[in-house]
Amino acid sequence: MLICPSCMSGKVVKNGKTYYGKQNHKCKDCNRQFVTNNKHTITDQ
Ligand SMILES: [Zn+2]
Repeated sequence: MLICPSCMSGKVVKNGKTYYGKQNHKCKDCNRQFVTNNKHTITDQ
């Protein structure tokens, strides 16, 4: 399960793909958007 890098919430939903084809996610608690790479490293958008 993905965890929000900002508020550590688990309420993260998919939010389409970025321009570079990475999966984009969005936190439902703080509305922050972030992406993950193949190794599940979370990076700021
Ligand atoms: Zn959050």
